[in-house]
Amino acid sequence: MIKQHPTSDLLAEYAAGSLPWAQAVCVTTHLHYCSTCTMEVDTLNQLGAQLMAGDSEAAADTALLDRVLKEIDQPREQAPAQVATVPLSAGARADLPPIVNHLIGTTEVQWKRVSSGLRAAHLNVGDTEHEVALHKICAGAKVAHHDHRATEVTVVLRGSFSDEDGVYGEGDFLLREPGETHRPMAAQNQDCLCLSAQQAPIRLTGAWCWLNPFLRIQPG
Ligand SMILES: [Zn+2]
Repeated sequence: MIKQHPTSDLLAEYAAGSLPWAQAVCVTTHLHYCSTCTMEVDTLNQLGAQLMAGDSEAAADTALLDRVLKEIDQPREQAPAQVATVPLSAGARADLPPIVNHLIGTTEVQWKRVSSGLRAAHLNVGDTEHEVALHKICAGAKVAHHDHRATEVTVVLRGSFSDEDGVYGEGDFLLREPGETHRPMAAQNQDCLCLSAQQAPIRLTGAWCWLNPFLRIQPG
């Protein structure tokens, strides 16, 4: 059962098409698992359409909204391409959300070893303001205690992990603000696969000062 959802404000931004693209990808991924938020987004879209109906000045906004929503929906409708280049097996991909399969299928990604129990793979979603990546925490592995230097959204795709604040399973949507710290640990019985979108880190006084072993992934 999903316990962590996007806030209503975030869903409203999503429905309005004003979320950064990388975060919209994460919300779309969450909607794959969550009928509650899907209904809320549908309601927001209907309300928006009613408010704009008959308002000529809003016509351009309506067209923009339609275009953004169509763009968000598009990956769900497309079959994954270039599957052969993907390091995830077909069986492992079968139950992933279509938008994640789409991103993997059109990008040559490779797992990079971040630490003994953590692998990561950069995904190119065309959003230069954010880094989007898959993270795999090996069963039972703990990730080093780390803080967040930027806002990060995480959606659990498979398995579960826990930290000081709780346990998170498939579909759970977490938003971490800068300054928050935690130490994730995967469940003992299964690797945990997550999708994350992090605001691109800003280099301050040296490369080491923003390097975050859980989050900072260079494109392959
Ligand atoms: Zn939800």
